[in-house]
Amino acid sequence: MISEVAKIKRKVWTEIAALAFEDKLEDEIEFLPRKLTREGITNYRCCEFKERAILADRIKLTLGIDLRSSNDDERLLAAAKRALDRGAAAPEPGRSLINIIEKACDRCPIDRIVVTDACRNCVAHYCVNACRKRAIEIVGNRAHIDRERCVECGLCVKACQFGAIIERERPCSRACAAGAIKPGRDSSAEIDYSKCIECGACITACPFGAISDTSDILRVITMLKSKDTVVIALVAPSVVGQFGPMAGWDALEKGLVHIGFAEVFPVAVAADVVAREEGRELAERMAGGNDIMFNSCCPAFVRLIDLHFPCLSEKVSKTPSPMLTAARLARNTHGAGQDIKCVFIGPCVAKKSEAIREGQGLVDAVLTFEELAAILVAAGINLAQIGGDALSSCQGASLDGMGFCSAGGVASAVKKCTAFSASDTPPEMLSLSGVENCMKALRQVSKGGLKADFVEGMACERGCIGGPGTLVDADVSARALQKLFKAKGEDASGH
Ligand code: SF4
Ligand code: SF4
Repeated sequence: MISEVAKIKRKVWTEIAALAFEDKLEDEIEFLPRKLTREGITNYRCCEFKERAILADRIKLTLGIDLRSSNDDERLLAAAKRALDRGAAAPEPGRSLINIIEKACDRCPIDRIVVTDACRNCVAHYCVNACRKRAIEIVGNRAHIDRERCVECGLCVKACQFGAIIERERPCSRACAAGAIKPGRDSSAEIDYSKCIECGACITACPFGAISDTSDILRVITMLKSKDTVVIALVAPSVVGQFGPMAGWDALEKGLVHIGFAEVFPVAVAADVVAREEGRELAERMAGGNDIMFNSCCPAFVRLIDLHFPCLSEKVSKTPSPMLTAARLARNTHGAGQDIKCVFIGPCVAKKSEAIREGQGLVDAVLTFEELAAILVAAGINLAQIGGDALSSCQGASLDGMGFCSAGGVASAVKKCTAFSASDTPPEMLSLSGVENCMKALRQVSKGGLKADFVEGMACERGCIGGPGTLVDADVSARALQKLFKAKGEDASGH
């Protein structure tokens, strides 16, 4: 089921994409929040005016504008002009990818330990006895927590036999294993960018839709409309199953060409190249007596290492990620002098920053599958009607290249490509997904307590198929991949 938050977000993207295609952005953008509330996006906030103010911020993010560079005084028309003036140029330097829409933040309760109505004022009062800080007393037939004394150790939660004391956490803070979100001014959520690894987990976790990433939708449509530009779509392997069982690779290619892409390049082909290169690199590092090499393909994992474990940065593979490799391969087929733009399409928001930070001009923009779906809707394209079999194609890549999108796939592919003689011990591979699991392992590595030759870290649970920009649940994706692997005569259980 699609949440209301996702529906609102996608509606805004679709409207902006449609206006951009029709060259009506400047004429109609000021009226968009009113139009959307009339069409039913309301009822969630205290009044229509607040709903429209939040929609205005969502529209600015869709235009690619970092909310920290815009205030309420900047009208939507001015914001649209600013975005259109930039055209297809790279985002403003220093743009924050992950934004808090402050007006949408409900300032969820901060107290972690809470006494609920289930408290029966029992005779034993285990909670009072359990609290070493003497923070609990009985007031009015019920346990009461003195917030000044409470250190949120949770001992009372464990002690209560009725489960009447609970530990709760803000959804955004709970989702952020990197510890980058905390209550800020007025208790609204605040991001510490020195800790944020841009995994996007908070975006899907916030039930109020108060966290969002900036979008490249407008820049991509500007590129697509330019007659002198050759725009290449680099499509991630996790695309399998994303657009439903009726929409295959052929349909996607046709749909993308219809909206103006000149070519579609499967990133799985580049993943095969990366597996071979990382296999060679791993064998070299092992021969040189180096311990542990990390994969370079997950930008949030790499950022986790760079920001939180900088002493381990040297252990990250030097092989460029499949996205960057795909862009290089796709560009190589064109002669010099052509205006080429590469747009990566995948499940990941962190790739938007990787394209800017590491892209070296190879990748010009990044769209999530969700954003692409909104663009296709705006252009009146239904991939299911175009048809084709979603499971028939490996897009010219091997199954190992396709498997990069699922946890364990990178380690499996790299192991197969690591040359070691029969007398040597095969490399020890470890696969981790989810920021929390990655952090635990990285802590162990930094203390010298983890033995492995290659560690595959994926910030998203279950790998890219669990990414924040996907259209379907990871289970659906995993099943679609499994079918593809079976159809191709190989079991995907190794991935
Ligand atoms: S989950 Fe966090 S960002 Fe979302 S409304 Fe609550 S405090 Fe605000
Ligand atoms: S690290 Fe991830 S969950 Fe935490 S603030 Fe950044 S994007 Fe959100």
